[in-house]
Amino acid sequence: MRHNFGAGPCILPQEVFKQASRAVLDFKDGLSILEISHRSPEFEEVMAEANKLVKELLNVPSGYSVLFLQGGASLQFAMVPMNLLPEGKTAAYLETGVWANKAIKEVKNFGKANVVATSKEANFTFIPKDYEIPEDSAYFHYTSNNTIYGTELFTLPVTKVPVVCDMSSDIMSREIDVSKYDLIYAGAQKNIGPAGLTIVIVKDDILGKSGRAIPSMLDYASYKDNDSMYNTPPVFSIYVAMLNLNWLKSKGGIAEIEKENKAKADALYKEIDRNPLFKGTCAVEDRSRMNVCFVMEKPELEKSFAKFADDNGFEGLKGHRSVGGFRASMYNALPITSVHALIDLMQTFEENQN
Ligand code: PMP
Repeated sequence: MRHNFGAGPCILPQEVFKQASRAVLDFKDGLSILEISHRSPEFEEVMAEANKLVKELLNVPSGYSVLFLQGGASLQFAMVPMNLLPEGKTAAYLETGVWANKAIKEVKNFGKANVVATSKEANFTFIPKDYEIPEDSAYFHYTSNNTIYGTELFTLPVTKVPVVCDMSSDIMSREIDVSKYDLIYAGAQKNIGPAGLTIVIVKDDILGKSGRAIPSMLDYASYKDNDSMYNTPPVFSIYVAMLNLNWLKSKGGIAEIEKENKAKADALYKEIDRNPLFKGTCAVEDRSRMNVCFVMEKPELEKSFAKFADDNGFEGLKGHRSVGGFRASMYNALPITSVHALIDLMQTFEENQN
C-alpha cells in the first residue's frame, strides 16, 4: 500500500477516482464525459451542482459569486490587481513565502504593492504578527497556508480594507467566514479536485471599479455574467471537483473534516516533538495542518530516512528544495491511518538507530 503525502496535485478519495474513471468510459448513454458539449444539459447540471456544493460547503453568503477559471492560482496573482487595483493606487501584501512573493511581483504591472510585513529573513518560518494595514490600501492580500514552509494563518488580521486571500492549499480544510473576505482564490489541485481548475469566490460589489480596460478572459465579470462559461471551461476538472466536493459533503462537510485534519496534524506534530531524531521547522503557533515540515536533528540521517520511507511505500515526503528535509502534506483525502503509519515509521527508524 502507498501512502501519498504529496503536496499537490495530491491524494483524492479512491471512490472519486473510480467514479471519474467510469465517467470517462460512460457518462451518459454511452458517451464519455470527455466527448460531450460543455453546453449540453448534462454538463450544465454538473456545473450548477459544483457551484452549489462550493456555496453549501463554505456557507457562501448572498452577494457573492463562485467562479470557475483556469490558469491556476498564479494567474490570480495578476487578475487580482488587474480587476481590483485602480490606476496609481496601492495594495497591501503580507509576504509569507514564495507564493505571496510571486503575487507581489505581479502588482507592479498595475500599481503599487506595499509589503506590510515579511518573514523572508527567517526563510518564512513564521507568520509576521505586528503590522499595520494603511486604510487607504485598495485591498489587503495574504496567503492563508504557505504550502512550501508549512505555516498557516488561522486568524484574519483586523482591517477595514477589502481582504483578498490565496487559499490554494487550505481551502475546504477548515471552516472560514466567507463574509470577512472580498475575494478568495484557490488552484483546485489540493482539496478541491484535479489541476486545471481555479476557484474564485468574489463579493459582487467590488467588481467593475478599477477604471481599467480588462481583456474579457481576465475580467471576473465575464465569468460571473456567463455562469463561468464565457468560453469552454475545464469540463473534466470541474466534473471531478464536483465528485470530490460531494464526497466531502457525504463525510459531514467541512466541520467534520476539520476535526479529522486537526487530529492528523496533532498526532504528527506530537511525534516530531517527541522523537529526538526529528525537529519541526516553523514557529509552533503558526504550524500548518496541511503541510507539516520537518528535518532531521542529524542531517546525515536524512538520506537513510528518505530511503526507509520510500522502501515502505511512502510517497511525496521530500521537502521543497528551499526548506529541505521532509514535508508531509495531509490534505482532506489522506486517511488518518496513513498518518499513523508515518508515525510508526518514524518510531521504527528511531529504534533502528539504537
Ligand atoms: N499559492 C499557493 C499557496 C500554492 O500552494 C500554489 C501551488 N502549490 C500556488 C499559489 C500556485 O498555484 P498554481 O500552480 O495553481 O498556479
